Amino acid sequence: MTVPDVARIEAFLTELASELADDMIITDPDIAAGYAHDQSRFTPHHIPAAVLAPRSTDDVATCLALAHRHNVVVVARGAGSGLSGAANASPDSVILSLHRMNRIIRIDPGNRLAVVQPGVLTAALRAEVANAGLLYPPDPGSVEFCTIGGNIATNAGGMCCVKYGVTGDFVLALEVVLADGRILRTGHQTVKGVAGYDLTRLFVGSEGTLGVVTEATLRVVPAPRPPHTLVASFPDLASAGAAVTAIVHAGLTPSMLEILDRTTVRAVDDYAKMSLGADVEALLLGQSDDPDAAAVLARINELCTDAGALDVAITDDPVEGAMLLEARRLALPALERLGDWLLDDVGVPRTKIADLIASIEEIANHHGLTVGVFGHAGDGNLHPTIIFDDADPTSRRAARRAFDDITRRALELGGTVTGEHGIGHLKKHWLTAEQGPIGIAVHHAVKYALDPRGILNPHAVLETS
Ligand SMILES: Cc1cc2nc3c(=O)[nH]c(=O)nc-3n(C[C@H](O)[C@H](O)[C@H](O)COP(=O)(O)OP(=O)(O)OC[C@H]3O[C@@H](n4cnc5c(N)ncnc54)[C@H](O)[C@@H]3O)c2cc1C
Repeated sequence: MTVPDVARIEAFLTELASELADDMIITDPDIAAGYAHDQSRFTPHHIPAAVLAPRSTDDVATCLALAHRHNVVVVARGAGSGLSGAANASPDSVILSLHRMNRIIRIDPGNRLAVVQPGVLTAALRAEVANAGLLYPPDPGSVEFCTIGGNIATNAGGMCCVKYGVTGDFVLALEVVLADGRILRTGHQTVKGVAGYDLTRLFVGSEGTLGVVTEATLRVVPAPRPPHTLVASFPDLASAGAAVTAIVHAGLTPSMLEILDRTTVRAVDDYAKMSLGADVEALLLGQSDDPDAAAVLARINELCTDAGALDVAITDDPVEGAMLLEARRLALPALERLGDWLLDDVGVPRTKIADLIASIEEIANHHGLTVGVFGHAGDGNLHPTIIFDDADPTSRRAARRAFDDITRRALELGGTVTGEHGIGHLKKHWLTAEQGPIGIAVHHAVKYALDPRGILNPHAVLETS
């Protein structure tokens, strides 16, 4: 006989209450409603039956062992800053919020690593390692408010990736609580380590569907010099795209190479009064933190000029550089003010960035929509942001079609349906398109080997889970 969902969850919470302190189980629906969804649009979500707020790995293990026994769905959550719905509560689920597990356990400069709990804010870790003369490079636009656990579970990127790589490139070892409450330790704290399958990598980017990360050992690097910064304005988006392709072909490795189109530049100007340029059609922002930064940016200047840049400015003043970086970070909050928005996240081979940009313009015109384009041009990873009117069903439909057309085009160009935001609920059907039937079958096999009862975020990532 199947036990009804409500009764199952009540039995689970009652048993859990005998194991955990009272303040770790929150059932007040008003508070629970604040944990229903992340920052995505067009994704299903529900008010969770409860929010669990553990303080330790053992608490997490207790939660999962009991959830497994009672067959209760658990969705792990960091800061809820995700943009794919991956942290959304599903029907009859509980949210496992890691926000209280926010300790930096140790920084080990000799071995160039940091050991942290998952709820540590990414900016807090970056600040702490900077005090030790080190850099933890991953810097998503949400760096001030997202968590290391969420970054690992989404394999988050950011502006540094063009030179330093993504979050997964800095994860050496993990402590993970498995679906049935067992505690697994993966990886190594050594520079090299090849013992067994790379289980660490398996959990990176798994969006809370394979286990809950309760501790991470992260690689850090010596702090580079303060960067020099370049800003180049272009008469159209296509020539900015051509400049990116030329920079890639030239084999240069800036530490940042970001693009903003006219819509985004004007939105940022209106929002933050930055005077980036009323006549500008596209901006490229580049940085180099190499010892020969001046030479790197001089060469990028030449390539931008050859591609048709109207104006190029270079500064070695870190304050000016930080201000320009802030303009880029404000892209999404600024575009949000133009109307309802649907943010895409696609990646193409870097030499195809100009083709992707041209296609986005065509798709926007075809659907009669404004699409603000910004993103990590140096990685071939763009965030076309579709502005629409959620109250108008025709506009809503057009937005969804434009979103799918952009994603399809990225695949056609040999790219990927998500460069860094993940699949979540937003792109499950696109995962099938990218992976094909065998890839999806292997995903299912891995998922059910680790989570046979399907209690961990089962409605995210895989379509038929
Ligand atoms: C303004 C803005 C800018 C952004 N810029 C970027 C960017 O530049 N690059 C980028 O990659 N992303 C960006 N993002 C998206 C988002 O911030 C990242 O996906 C981030 O990694 C999510 O972290 P979080 O702590 O908020 O996780 P959440 O949104 O809470 O969760 C994300 C996923 O991780 C899982 N999860 C969380 N913690 C754990 C854990 N301990 N164990 C297992 N699973 C867990 C959740 O179940 C969910 O599947 C941006 C978002 C915003 C709002």
